[in-house]
Amino acid sequence: METDQLHSLVRSAESIIGLWWQDDRRNWCAYCGIPMRRRAATGTRLPPTKATRDHVVPRVHASGLLTLPCCLECNQAKGKQSLPEFLSGPYFNQKRMKKHRNQWPLAHLWFVAGLAYFRKSELIAQKARGSRRVAG
Ligand SMILES: [Zn+2]
Repeated sequence: METDQLHSLVRSAESIIGLWWQDDRRNWCAYCGIPMRRRAATGTRLPPTKATRDHVVPRVHASGLLTLPCCLECNQAKGKQSLPEFLSGPYFNQKRMKKHRNQWPLAHLWFVAGLAYFRKSELIAQKARGSRRVAG
């Protein structure tokens, strides 16, 4: 595949995510679709509906900053799983049995997963180019 083709795929995947934190999508969980609470009373346990950002590629894999709006319950259920693992697992499929109009479409979530791995490959390629430059 030509680098240009890869870049245009990445750009179209990025347009699906868009700037979700600047629009209404920040108020609903991308996975289960429930309305999320932005604040929790201090000193109380965080409610499962607390708004969080999910790192699409878990932070333990040094993933960069691709995130989705996600309730605390879904974020904890996903844990260190990759997005494809999570989307294929029992928790997610149980949650999606309840249809909610603010859930992100399944095809979009898989597109986001693809984007995360494209970005990771770009990052690795950039680092390789950088280290060659330093060595040469
Ligand atoms: Zn959720």
